[in-house]
Amino acid sequence: MRGLMQDFPLLVHRVLDHAARWHGSTPILSRSVEGPLHRTDYARLSRRSKALASACQKRLGLKLGSVVATMAWNTWRHLEIWYGVMGLGAIVHTLNPRLFASQLGYIINHAEDQWIFTDLTFVPLLEKLQDSLPGVKGFVIMTDAAHMPTTTLRNPVCYEELLASGDEAFAWPEFDENTACGMCYTSGTTGNPKGVLYSHRSNVLHGLMCALGDAMAISSRDVAMPVVPMFHANAWSMAFSVPISGAALVMPGPRLDGAAIYEMLTEGRVTITAAVPTVWLMLLNHLEQNPALRLPDLQRVVIGGSACPESIMKAFVESYGTDVIHAWGMTEMSPIGSLGIQSGRAAGLPPEEWWTLKLKQGRPPFMVDMKITDDAGNTLPHDGKTFGRLKVKGPAVAKSYFKGEGLAAFDAEGWFDTGDVATIDEYGYMQITDRAKDVIKSGGEWISSIEIENIALGCPGVQEAAAIGLPHPKWDERPLLVIVRKQGSEVSRAEVLAHLEGRIAKWWMPDDVAFLPEIPHTATGKISKLELRALFRDYRFPGSVLPD
Ligand code: ADP
Repeated sequence: MRGLMQDFPLLVHRVLDHAARWHGSTPILSRSVEGPLHRTDYARLSRRSKALASACQKRLGLKLGSVVATMAWNTWRHLEIWYGVMGLGAIVHTLNPRLFASQLGYIINHAEDQWIFTDLTFVPLLEKLQDSLPGVKGFVIMTDAAHMPTTTLRNPVCYEELLASGDEAFAWPEFDENTACGMCYTSGTTGNPKGVLYSHRSNVLHGLMCALGDAMAISSRDVAMPVVPMFHANAWSMAFSVPISGAALVMPGPRLDGAAIYEMLTEGRVTITAAVPTVWLMLLNHLEQNPALRLPDLQRVVIGGSACPESIMKAFVESYGTDVIHAWGMTEMSPIGSLGIQSGRAAGLPPEEWWTLKLKQGRPPFMVDMKITDDAGNTLPHDGKTFGRLKVKGPAVAKSYFKGEGLAAFDAEGWFDTGDVATIDEYGYMQITDRAKDVIKSGGEWISSIEIENIALGCPGVQEAAAIGLPHPKWDERPLLVIVRKQGSEVSRAEVLAHLEGRIAKWWMPDDVAFLPEIPHTATGKISKLELRALFRDYRFPGSVLPD
């Protein structure tokens, strides 16, 4: 027997319809690419998204299933494109401008993008790339007529002119909630990048999940600022979870340095924000250099994308009274997989014990299930010690990559192998110990590079730390710790090692410490272990002679 409830497909335009109708005057503040701050609200955003949708249909020929790309910062215009294009049943493919040009060319062609919406910032980059993009019909430049550049891009369209030709009373079409609406490629540290294809249903469910009390707890009393770019794993749901909640939005635009972020936090009176650790490091440095500055409105900072060092979490909590939520996820999970929220059971713990849990990557919210297994697929215990391959399931988790690639990550029972290695403790808190390809295998046992790095970051004078496994004649691999010193610091090898001593098992102690002026990063801000290992390919540990 079927239930007798209404058929209400979970289409993303309903999120904006709700925000416009019931939170219409709630503000959206952005830093524009042209420079000045820009103010709008949900009611105007909705009208303009509809006008854009109708113009895209009429003038660009977009329809159900068309794919367009955006190369853009977080601004109100980028939101209009998401809602306008997705509302048509077309697909928005977000491009990460930090990728190499060759990778960008590959993914634009692979995704079969028909049009590219670009911020002014990226016009020169796309001018160079366009000859290798035969399928792209033209480029919509996200600015007004006054700021249109002289460009060699083919079929350049001015965004504001396009939008002005549309109809604000456009009626969204209805279609199946499983229709694709967003696409994002993983950086593909090994092999080519792979496409993840979100559906309307998965985005709406994931947005609801992220707004939950034991997730980011977003309400209409909040002002939310996604610093995490919309091109990085779906902006961690915030383009959906924030309007779902009716919270105000602050969009930081092209400037992500400490001073710029501080300005947006204070100008918008932001209560919740989210980004990768490096962004918060820049903000904390700015605050340290300007001791009079405070964060009176900011209640919660969501930090993820790579392991958040204790020093960053403690600085927010202890120096600024701002809570930190350590989150883990990945593009394939829309992307949120777990959050370090205090569960009812963990609330009874003494503060020091709670901190041990808080530093981990957290617990899965409803709609994410997870387990750890050994290589043979046997489920491992939740004892906080045993580590294994982390596998996940849920309605906002990919069941396949675009065009059927990367099949090995999906098993017959529907579990997706994240490629991460983790422990889960008796309170249900998961801790990432490594990416499977980055664990250091010493004498048949695994050493967690992330744990060594986190502890090294607590050593005064250390700005950044990366542990990599390098070949060793006896132990197979041993850890080399690579350090970037803080400006003005002369922290030495002996001091770093003395700091680690007693904080990690003896056999985890790095065999050597190397100092670099900077460490290479990937396009999503993670330490590029691949490049680091290449950099140290010819390195030999002191006293070790490797057979040729
Ligand atoms: P990409 O793989 O393209 O860099 P993702 O953002 O999808 O982009 O990367 C997901 C990976 O980032 C995870 O599989 C995990 O290895 C790492 N990661 C994300 N959040 C955390 C975290 N809080 N702690 C440790 N690692 C993290």
